[in-house]
Amino acid sequence: MAATRTQSIWMKAMGAPDPTVNPDAWNDMWEKRLAVDPMASSEDILIKEHVDQPQVLLSQIRYNTQHLCRHQQFLSLAATEAFQKGFESKWLNSSASVRSKHLLEGFVRSCIMNPDGEGDRLYCSDLTLAAMNKDKGAAFIRLLKKYIHTDSSKIPSTPLSYPSPKWNYKLEAAKANDKNSIATAVWEWVQLGRDLYICRFLVGTIGSFYNEPRPSPPIINSPRASGYGSYNHEVVKDLKKKVGKEAVKVIDREWKDSKKETVKFCERCLKSEGPETELFKQCSRCANEVQRKVFYCSAECQREDWKQHKKICGKELTLETAKSTAVPPSGLPLFPTPPNTDDESKQIGPPTGGFKRSAALTKQIEQLKERKGSDTDYILFSCNGKSHDVQIRKSETTLKMAFQDVRKAAFTKGDPKSVIHLAQYLVHHGAKLAGASLSTSEILDQLSSEFPGVEIRRGIDMLEAFISQDPLKRGKTAVDLDAELKEEQVHATLNDRDGQAKSKEILREQWDADGTTKLFESIVNGQMPVEASKKKIIKDIYDAVIGDGDMAHALKLMENMGL
Ligand SMILES: [Zn+2]
Ligand SMILES: [Zn+2]
Repeated sequence: MAATRTQSIWMKAMGAPDPTVNPDAWNDMWEKRLAVDPMASSEDILIKEHVDQPQVLLSQIRYNTQHLCRHQQFLSLAATEAFQKGFESKWLNSSASVRSKHLLEGFVRSCIMNPDGEGDRLYCSDLTLAAMNKDKGAAFIRLLKKYIHTDSSKIPSTPLSYPSPKWNYKLEAAKANDKNSIATAVWEWVQLGRDLYICRFLVGTIGSFYNEPRPSPPIINSPRASGYGSYNHEVVKDLKKKVGKEAVKVIDREWKDSKKETVKFCERCLKSEGPETELFKQCSRCANEVQRKVFYCSAECQREDWKQHKKICGKELTLETAKSTAVPPSGLPLFPTPPNTDDESKQIGPPTGGFKRSAALTKQIEQLKERKGSDTDYILFSCNGKSHDVQIRKSETTLKMAFQDVRKAAFTKGDPKSVIHLAQYLVHHGAKLAGASLSTSEILDQLSSEFPGVEIRRGIDMLEAFISQDPLKRGKTAVDLDAELKEEQVHATLNDRDGQAKSKEILREQWDADGTTKLFESIVNGQMPVEASKKKIIKDIYDAVIGDGDMAHALKLMENMGL
């Protein structure tokens, strides 16, 4: 059984009102507490608690960064969708009491989504119902916009942050004094708690505004969240004295229960281990050398995370590595797979999730399938019915991949964001790539009939407004940006193949773990028959990794094979 608290153990033990039962009283309690600026007293406690266990704090920073990035992707998706439905004007035109109702529910939901994060409201003294209702509700919209990523198709690797106007100077002062000190780490951690709290509150408020049901309480514990052992710390003992014997009993019991229910998360894909998954593997070097629990759902995730994980594997964390290694760079595999433009990526699967294709879309897909083996990525039609093939050159591999990814999401799920990205790209480049003179409105009309459920024109306007806010991205389409990012990652991966001895050692370890060594051995020995040309490639790779063959040559072969 998973823990299903809706409030922090401490707050509950201290007799605070239950947010789900008595939200008004609960919020009043918090607003009164915030009015006396509790931050001033908690700073010293936090530093005292962590000064003798910096690794505990750094693990928390890493874990919270990971979660903040996930929250922000989710928030960006929810907010983009809400803005498409006209959220901003609906919100501003609501009465203050309606807005207050949703804001209060937003705070409650923030607590339900992460009961252990309830206390982080301490760091959000600027977030009161009155403050969020300022300027006829515009204050809330401004706060929301601080946390929206332009590209919500993947987990951002750096979170957006909104420092507290009240105490950000303390973080800045700590950094200026010593950017690696415990004080700096404590303030960074406090800032993460604040950002996490605000993001949950924003998601919760939007959800309430659109009458979505309350989220269910999460499975609370992860090895990294609960495995700190700081419960017996002096500071915690002091706190326990303050809350009284009865409360301590409750806290102790809940703490024990929560320990039993520790859930393993995959380091790379953040999936959690459950009855329907395989047993997760643990990184033994991390466990043995730094007592850090690192899990993987599969050998594949472990392999793909290695480029990132090697920076901290078996090593103590620093504030820099805790933050920079928190989120895998957008799920790109360690060895990038060259696009397979002939078969698989051309195959557009059946619609999923109840998505119904329009007649025009079905026609588009049928015609694309007829062009199998060609370079055609999309077909545009003039108003006289003449077809024009949009072809992205094969040499532009990352762009082609990015386009096909977006197209797939649009074709199979009808995902509105992907449809808009697709349309935006076709409006900007479609006619030129097809070598035809097509007007923007011809292209938009066609896409609107293919995806009648999506407000394409409006979506493109919003997307472009977002993109142009960032001066570096001016004039680019979402697909271009995606491709640029992928390109960067491919280069980073290629350049990172430093020190062949190291690659070899890494590969050996991975191969032993995932059975590749045995598989390749049986091919090389002839026990498992494969085509002669493939056998030659595998033998070269095998000889380099296991024996002393040419490693650079092997890496190139593997890259070509998409291994
Ligand atoms: Zn995984
Ligand atoms: Zn490790």
